[in-house]
Amino acid sequence: MTDIQYLFPETYQASRERFRNNLSAVQAKWKNAKLFQHTLSYDNDLTIDWIYAEAEGGNEKIFMLTTGEHGVECYVGSAMLQRFVEQYMPKLNPNKTGILLVHAINPWGMKNHRRGNKDNIDLNRTFIWKGGFDSAFNPDYDKIDSFLAPSAKLTNIFLNNILYFLGLGWHVAQMGMSNFRYALLLGQYRNPQGLYYGGKELPEETRVLMDLYRQALSKYDQILHLDMHTGYGPRYQMSLVNSAFEKGNSEEFQKRFNYPLVVAATADEFYAIRGDMVDYIYEMWRSDFSQKRLFSSAFEFGTLGNTLYGLFQSPRVMIHENRAYWHGAKNERIHKKAKLGFEELFHPAAKNWRQKAVADADQAFDGILSAEGYF
Ligand SMILES: [Zn+2]
Repeated sequence: MTDIQYLFPETYQASRERFRNNLSAVQAKWKNAKLFQHTLSYDNDLTIDWIYAEAEGGNEKIFMLTTGEHGVECYVGSAMLQRFVEQYMPKLNPNKTGILLVHAINPWGMKNHRRGNKDNIDLNRTFIWKGGFDSAFNPDYDKIDSFLAPSAKLTNIFLNNILYFLGLGWHVAQMGMSNFRYALLLGQYRNPQGLYYGGKELPEETRVLMDLYRQALSKYDQILHLDMHTGYGPRYQMSLVNSAFEKGNSEEFQKRFNYPLVVAATADEFYAIRGDMVDYIYEMWRSDFSQKRLFSSAFEFGTLGNTLYGLFQSPRVMIHENRAYWHGAKNERIHKKAKLGFEELFHPAAKNWRQKAVADADQAFDGILSAEGYF
């Protein structure tokens, strides 16, 4: 097997530079390709970068690939973007197909190895279609807030793991497993230091992407969009996670894309959330562009696994990291340990994990782009 380690960047800056250098490869196919940037208002070293090219013979279809909505996940996302540029972009027809590649929707999170942006906002809870940021949303979150976001220094990981499992057991006994997961993952707009926080207003990163999606849906007759994520699902099989608004059946997609694992982002098959980016694209389509053809979905590269163990470990890891971020840890060793666990959840170092992730992405790129008529 060819070495794929080089695909995975070490730093935000290195990843961004490589992305910018892809412009010449894109221009070799699309002469009109350009590199664009949005510089974040709070740090002018941080940019959302994108390369866009129009189809040269009329705007029949567009392919869009986005990465790093959850900053720390962009190390894997950037690897997949690079893989696409090297292996699959050459097969597109520049005469019929436009292209939009987005590097690091959340550059602060990528640089600082966090999921949220500078304000701890999970951008995938902010793509709300014609709705406000309602602080009263998800009232059940209050029942688990102090469990998820303890406001004290992280002192002892072993002890806190025991407390976590006791707390988890208590809450699950009180609320039931499905209500607990629902309250945890749905998103909350009240506690700025809590998990899955959606903020109080539209973040600038979200606004940039909303504009890009509107331009693409306005201009093209067919839109294919793939967004890159990590952290959920089985460890050695990437899940293609369709929007709850996608009416197609998951099993039929598996056949059509020749890809073994397709799930819908519903409470039954995956989990329900508010302000999801892919859902937003479907809502925009349904409202203003429903005569066009749209398929938008997410690659979810699982890490801890789909067993009960994996499901319970990921909140534990996120609680410790978030706690150490806001309140510090007793010492540097404990802080490092909390961060390392988090890194393994969203950006695994293991070579065999990375190889399988790239192989799964290969199969999915090939299957989806073929089935949608891009190759
Ligand atoms: Zn994600």
